[in-house]
This record gives sequence, C-alpha cells and structure tokens, in this order.
Amino acid sequence: MIAPKTLKMSLKSLRDFAKKKLPDETLIELDERDECPLEIVRYMCNPDQLGIQLLFIPEEYGGLGGGAFDVYCICEEMARIDLGIATAVLATFLGSDPITVGATPEQKKHWLSRIADEGILFAYGATEPEAGSDLGALKTTADPVLQDGRVVGYKINGNKQWISNGGIADTYTVLANTPAGPSWFVVEKGTKGFTHDEPEGKHGIRLSNTAALAFNDVYVDADRLIGGVEGQGLNQAQAVFGYTRLMVAAFGLGAGWSALDRAIPYSTKRIQAGAPLSEKQGYTHKLIVPHVVRLEAARSYIEETAERIDAGEGSLNTEGAIAKYMASEAGNAAAEAAIQALGGYGYTHEYMVEKISRDVRITTIYEGTSEIMEMTISRDRWQLHLKTRGQYYHEQAQALEKLHTRRPNVGADVAALAAHALAEVMEKARIGRLTRYQHILLRLGELIAFTECAGSLARRADRLAEGKLSEKANRRFDSTALAGLSRVFAREAALKVAEEGLRLAIGAGAVSEAETAALEASMQMPAIHRAQAGLIADMDYLADVLYNRAAKSAARAA
Ligand SMILES: Cc1cc2nc3c(=O)[nH]c(=O)nc-3n(C[C@H](O)[C@H](O)[C@H](O)COP(=O)(O)OP(=O)(O)OC[C@H]3O[C@@H](n4cnc5c(N)ncnc54)[C@H](O)[C@@H]3O)c2cc1C
Repeated sequence: MIAPKTLKMSLKSLRDFAKKKLPDETLIELDERDECPLEIVRYMCNPDQLGIQLLFIPEEYGGLGGGAFDVYCICEEMARIDLGIATAVLATFLGSDPITVGATPEQKKHWLSRIADEGILFAYGATEPEAGSDLGALKTTADPVLQDGRVVGYKINGNKQWISNGGIADTYTVLANTPAGPSWFVVEKGTKGFTHDEPEGKHGIRLSNTAALAFNDVYVDADRLIGGVEGQGLNQAQAVFGYTRLMVAAFGLGAGWSALDRAIPYSTKRIQAGAPLSEKQGYTHKLIVPHVVRLEAARSYIEETAERIDAGEGSLNTEGAIAKYMASEAGNAAAEAAIQALGGYGYTHEYMVEKISRDVRITTIYEGTSEIMEMTISRDRWQLHLKTRGQYYHEQAQALEKLHTRRPNVGADVAALAAHALAEVMEKARIGRLTRYQHILLRLGELIAFTECAGSLARRADRLAEGKLSEKANRRFDSTALAGLSRVFAREAALKVAEEGLRLAIGAGAVSEAETAALEASMQMPAIHRAQAGLIADMDYLADVLYNRAAKSAARAA
C-alpha cells in the first residue's frame, strides 16, 4: 500500500500535469481529430517522468506497490482529466494483470520489472469478434509446437477485437485456446505474423487507441505461456475482476463528477428569468442533487470494497460488479444531466460536458456490460439468499437498525427498510420460481446493488462522524452533508426496491389480487412511504452545500 502522503503527492502531480499540458481546448481538439496523444501517454507511464505505472507494480519489481484503494484514487483522478487517456494509461495495468496473478516468479520479474523500469505499454487481448460477454466462446487457438516430444512453443491463430492500446502497445497479453483450455500468452509487438488494424472510429474515448489484432501462425516460446500451465486463463481473468471492475467504477465516478463540476459553476452564472439557475429548485433538484447523491453512494461502495480487498478478503468479484454497475450508471446519468444543465451550450462540441457524456458511455460496456454485472450480482446474492433461508438481507437490515439506534441521522433505518423489502421480494421470487425469467433475475441485480449501496453510504456517514474513515478516503463532504446524502439515497433505494419488486412479482403472476396486500405489508410499504418525509428539505440542504450556501441554510433552519 502506498503511504497517504505519497498518494496525495502523486495525485497532485497528476493534476498539475493535466492543468499544464491538457487544458480543455487541447482535449477537445484531440477528440475532434480522433487522436491518441501517444507522447502524453508515454510521458505519464515513463518512470523518469510521471511514472503512473509505478503505483501499480509490486515493490519487489521496482514499483510502489499500490493497493486497490490507491488504484481507485488514481483512476478517479485520471478519469476527471480524460477517460480516453485514462484508458490508454490504465490498459497497461489491465494488460499486466494476468501476469500479476498467474505468472511464474521468473515471468513476473521479467515483465513487471520492464513496466517499472522502461515504462512499456501493455494491451489486454481477450475480446473477439464472436466472443464478447461470453469469453468462453473464444476461437483464437494456441497449438503446442513439439520438439523431441517436449512443448517448446505455441503457434497462435485468430483475431481479437476492440483492444485498448491495440495499435500502440509494446506488449500484449492474449487469451487463446490450448488443448487444456483458455490460457494467457505474452506476445511482443513486431512478432512475425502479428498485426493490428487501423484504430476504430469511436463514439467516445477518442483519445484512446482501440484496434483489432490478427494472429497468423504467430510463434511464441513456451515461456510466454503465463504461469507455465495450460488452461488457467479464465481463472486468472476471474481472479482480478474485483480489482479491475473497481478501476472502471472509479472511471465512471471521476467522469460523472467532472461533468457535474462543470454544470455547478455554470449554473451560478447563467441568469434566466431574473436569477441564476443555481437558485431554481426545479433545476438543482433534478439535474444536480440526485446525481451527486448516486455518485456518492457508488463512491461509498467503491471505498468499502477497496478497503476489503486491501485487507485481504479476496478478489470480491460481486462487490466489484456492484461498484462498477452503480458508479458507471450514475456517471452516465450525471453526464447526461450536465448536458441538460448547460442547455444548448451543453449540446455543442465546444463544451466539455458533451465530450464527457460520450466518453463515460464506455464504462457501462467494457470490463463487463451493465447487464452482465446485473447477472453476476443477482446470481451470487441469490445463492446467499438460499443458503441463509431468506435471512441474508434481513440480517443486513438488523445491523443497519442497530446503527440507527446509535446514529439516527444517517438514514440507516430507511436503508434497513430497503434490505427487509429486498429479502421479501427475493423470497417471493423463490416461492414463485421467478428467477426462471431472465428479466427478473437481472432486475433483482439492480435492486440488490441499490440496497447494498444504501447500507454502505449510511456506514460511511457514520464512520466519518466517528473520525474512523480511512486517511485516503474522499472528504469532499463533511459528516453532516454525508448524512444528508445518505438519507436521500436510502429513501430512493427503499422506494425502488418496494415498488419495482412488487411490480415484478405481480407482473410475473406470482401474486394474486388477494395476496397483494399481504405482500405490501410484509415489505413495509407504508413505512417506506412515510420515510419519504423530509426529502425536499434534505435536497434543499444538499443544494445549499453544493453551492456553498451553508450559512444561508443554517440561518433558514434557525
Ligand atoms: C472502446 C472499447 C475498448 C475496449 N477495450 C478492450 C480491451 O482492452 N480488451 C478486451 O479484451 N476487450 C476490450 N473491449 C471489449 C469489451 O470488453 C466488450 O465490448 C464487452 O465485454 C461487451 O462485449 P460485446 O461488445 O461483444 O457485446 P455482447 O457481449 O455481444 O453484448 C451486446 C449486448 O447484449 C447484452 N448481453 C450479452 N450477453 C447477454 C446475456 N447473456 N444476457 C442478456 N444480455 C446480454 C450486453 O449487455 C450488451 O448490452 C473494449 C470495447 C470497447 C468498445
């Protein structure tokens, strides 16, 4: 783990560099030219210059040994600058992951030291024209080459699609089928038979290079098989999902905030109907406040998951999926709202929010689409529901109720209502065998993600008030404001779970008319409705916090 002071310094150098070298006009120009600024990417990865790569490489190989929390902080900062450049720089981290988790000690020493010492760029080659979400369908092959009955190398044949850094990387990790199953190989640029296409013309992240790769009888020595044992590829890919999805979650968070941080000051200066837009409740409470709330709920889950990964709780794939799902969806919604917040100006290329909204779109697609995240989340928590005989979310609710008795202002009681309602919906789904409908399985994934984020945000507000939040944690909001954010999000989560849950259960025919009232009662619908009391006052308060009108707000309360 990096020391908090070192991390702070790295983040500051990154910000200073971006301010000097990547002002908005430069980014917009590069976006228009659809150009990846390779020199900038190399500068950022060069150990003698910015050396961002060093943060992710273990100390024994010459890096700084950053953990998941450090990765999240850097990724958020990078995304606030530009998501295309962030993708290009972080592709090396993603590309070297199969090595970090699965390589032999010699392979690790060779490749990870080269990233630290030389700043070589990696690309991660998994996706194929016919194998996207379903990687198991991959067709690229790696056939063993035998000499005296011994495997001395492999011949790789096939195609990869949408590979970040595909046209600019020095080294590629490539997933291919061996006789024992999918396996990762390291292939260097310039290897005979290995070519890449022209960069794709993309909707967003146009400052990143994305290209297809072709392998035509590409020979690599046996020591390029990562880990030295065939058939470990999918396990090695799985082993880092918690981590890598957290990276993309941080991308969504950074891009979403970057859009809002443009809309907020804009609205203080734009006068319509005799007053700044920032003073119009119909504007702030639709286009700004709810997005801040959802982004901070996602942040809370990201930070909690990062801390747990760093504490050695394993790769936490489902938690990574929840973090990615919530942050990327919130980031997209925030950027979309920022365009609306800037009106006609927001719709033009001249204003960054337009570019950000195109850039952030990728975060719900790569590293697993939102729908695949919903499926991952739902399947895992469904098993927990069954294993605990329906008690999993009731137990989470009880813990939140305990928190509420100790700290009544963080909305933990309402987050508990969401968790109880979720447990009831899941139980109804079990009895009615509703997960045979894929639509319901995936929608449950969304309800689970909202419920868990509501609990996480309440815990975060409590920890901040207790002075127990990690030193590296984001401190944009003080404990009173975070409690307000938590109350607003908990209300949204509880209402969503109750109403959507009911709609799905009734919609699938699992609840007769006569049974509806009983289900509504078991989900505590009236309590969830009553919990909405105070919503507008909380949103008024949050708008005052965001626009630095806290003094005015306090006077009004008095
Ligand atoms: C700019 C960019 C950069 C990328 N960088 C990389 C990279 O560096 N390395 C790499 O390996 N890959 C990379 N990718 C690929 C990316 O990870 C895939 O695009 C992604 O996993 C989705 O796969 P797909 O495009 O084949 O879509 P599909 O899997 O065909 O999905 C299409 C749609 O169907 C939905 N869907 C899929 N399966 C199901 C299902 N079972 N049930 C319900 N709905 C389903 C999806 O959610 C999606 O909405 C990149 C992609 C882009 C666009």
